[in-house]
Amino acid sequence: MTPAARARRVLVVGGGLAGLSAAIQCQDAGAEVLLFESRPRFGGATWSFQRKGLQFDNGQHVYLRCCIAYRRFLERLGTADLAPLQDRLAIPVISPSADGPVTAWIRRSSLPAPLHLLPSLLSYRHLTLAERVRLGRAVRAMLACDPGSPELDEETFGSFLRRHGQSDRAIALLFDLIALPTLNVHADEAALGPALKVFRTGLLDEPDGADIGWARVPLARLHVDPAIDILRKGGAIVHDKAKVEAIDVAGARPAARVAGERLEADAIILAVAHEAAAELLPPGGALDPVALRGLGTSPIIDVHLVYDRKVLPYELAAAVHSPAQFVFDRTAAAGLDPADGQCLAISVSGADGEHGERPEELIDRYVAALEALLPAARDARLVDAVVSREHSATFRAVPGTARLRPGPISGLPGLYLAGSWTDTGWPATMEGAVRSGVAAAACALGESAAARGNDRPLEEVLA
Ligand SMILES: Cc1cc2nc3c(=O)[nH]c(=O)nc-3n(C[C@H](O)[C@H](O)[C@H](O)COP(=O)(O)OP(=O)(O)OC[C@H]3O[C@@H](n4cnc5c(N)ncnc54)[C@H](O)[C@@H]3O)c2cc1C
Repeated sequence: MTPAARARRVLVVGGGLAGLSAAIQCQDAGAEVLLFESRPRFGGATWSFQRKGLQFDNGQHVYLRCCIAYRRFLERLGTADLAPLQDRLAIPVISPSADGPVTAWIRRSSLPAPLHLLPSLLSYRHLTLAERVRLGRAVRAMLACDPGSPELDEETFGSFLRRHGQSDRAIALLFDLIALPTLNVHADEAALGPALKVFRTGLLDEPDGADIGWARVPLARLHVDPAIDILRKGGAIVHDKAKVEAIDVAGARPAARVAGERLEADAIILAVAHEAAAELLPPGGALDPVALRGLGTSPIIDVHLVYDRKVLPYELAAAVHSPAQFVFDRTAAAGLDPADGQCLAISVSGADGEHGERPEELIDRYVAALEALLPAARDARLVDAVVSREHSATFRAVPGTARLRPGPISGLPGLYLAGSWTDTGWPATMEGAVRSGVAAAACALGESAAARGNDRPLEEVLA
């Protein structure tokens, strides 16, 4: 605990992962913390609901071994073992066909990076041999790119891949398998910068960076319950159903208006989504609220299906030539006894088309898609089905958005910004949200070096 932190009162607006991680970071440093969340629940974009005695998440969330801030957050919460990582990246990729489904695997070998994926890519049977051989050109081009170049905000990932010899099929059947769920837009729409971040940090720079982890319990149990417990036990003032109505930085100390009451603090961390931040930003700073809204939104839907028996023989699977993008076995997390059936979540990113469709249409389409991918689903009985939708799941990571993402410094006295939409170097992910919370907390705690926020290695910010 530093003397400076002990004397500080930090007010955090927004109880998503950015706000929760910022609040815990400040409390751990000895600050007095107040956290206000407008909804009747914490967790922001990661939340859980009950239906007919089972637990569902608003959307399947995964993280990668390279997500060091998020992993450290889980360790601080004491829940890392509830969201284990694969020992070794392995994704079965299933394609329906008239002769029965065909499965290829994306998995890492024991070769050093970037060769660790080579055996799997060379045997990736959803592409022709010529297409597989040409993948090397794209990999070399990605490795040659300067990740800090502003030019990466001017081109789409799809156009970059085509410039480096990749076919429409290679983009749809391989690159989009990674780009779409991590960037929440197709490669042909995604900015090159965030795509390179994912492919370099996750897949190419280290052999184990893309090992996948996900919660085996509901997200509320993984994040919210332990985080709120830590904060309340540490003496923080924590309220849900507490919308911050305005922020005022004109006085000697910044202040927030909550339920008509004016609350002053030494620092305020605004950890809400970019659209809400645009509403709350007080005038006078360099940030233009209209520009923030330019980050746009991209939807995700999940179709949750409960079958009377096991139909998916893997913990997770990806699909090509199918509307189902990724399918996860959620049986344990849902609280369903495996003897009674299997609970699946089909995750559909970049779901612009699907978002407005009626639930019955979606359920019919995705049940049919699963029957084409998983023969066992054809004989199984569908016990329950529900669709969850998040219209503004993430900002839209298209060219031109990197320059719209501010760092933690708002330019207004005592006001700092957090949220997965801020400039974290990552796409809108749980990792980005936690990083942004940690960086904003470091600034709010008055560590002047931390004013450089994202430029500092996370290890240093967290030290
Ligand atoms: C369906 C879905 C699937 C996803 N899948 C993945 C995945 O697999 N992997 C991954 O890494 N990421 C995934 N993401 C993205 C990830 O969940 C988000 O990037 C991250 O959780 C955002 O956290 P945040 O704290 O920045 O913002 P949010 O979660 O949006 O939190 C902001 C909070 O601020 C509150 N708020 C707003 N206005 C006010 C106000 N005036 N006063 C008080 N509170 C206010 C909001 O109610 C909200 O709780 C997914 C997102 C969705 C929706």
